[in-house]
Amino acid sequence: MDRKEKNKLKKYLLLQRDLGFEEFYLPESSRPAGKITVKRLGIDRFSEAESLFQLETTIKRCKRCPLGKTRTKFVFGVGNPDADIVFIGEAPGRDEDLQGIPFVGRAGKLLDKMLAEIGLNRNDVYIANILKCRPPENRDPESEEVDECLPYLIKQIKLIKPKVICSLGRVAAQRILQTTMSLGAMRGRWFDYHGIKFMVTYHPAAILRTNSYMAGALQDLRRLAKTVNSMENGSK
Ligand code: SF4
Repeated sequence: MDRKEKNKLKKYLLLQRDLGFEEFYLPESSRPAGKITVKRLGIDRFSEAESLFQLETTIKRCKRCPLGKTRTKFVFGVGNPDADIVFIGEAPGRDEDLQGIPFVGRAGKLLDKMLAEIGLNRNDVYIANILKCRPPENRDPESEEVDECLPYLIKQIKLIKPKVICSLGRVAAQRILQTTMSLGAMRGRWFDYHGIKFMVTYHPAAILRTNSYMAGALQDLRRLAKTVNSMENGSK
């Protein structure tokens, strides 16, 4: 097994483990000689973190992808560590990169207003992105960057154990659900993400560009709030 194949296998195993799978099937041709151990594959131990604080402390100097070298600040996530609702965006922008907090620019202020419409504020929910570091010039995340970073988000979700996840925009939803469906096809539906209800709405930045999306986004959030309210207490 050469280095490239080993890296590919490492990413696959890391993602599977963070998705909760404990046993893996590997075809004969993909099996390295000898015993496979986490240490041997170079997989770090962030998945053993028992709290968000511990996880953040473990990964905040991450340089698993090139964005680790160009970021100003690492943007872990913010909000209630025991939230019923987790909102997930795409990646930090300029303001977020400077402050180290997700959704603090114009889009973030709009998100705050949208939350207020359903009687919530950012201390009631948890907000994160699929990437923890800003892509230069706010370009779209590269697949390799998401592959490296997504396990961190999955671990955050496992620690928070929300009742509902709401993707802000198409990109985060496609990467988390591993689908190529359009935003239009995903909106208005509930998906199941490892037992957690998952829905998609417009990214606030898209609403800033196209005001007419606001009505639909608020409709989505009201549906989300209604669903969370109707779910039985004590299931966490
Ligand atoms: S984007 Fe994620 S994987 Fe890449 S350096 Fe930042 S924290 Fe690490």
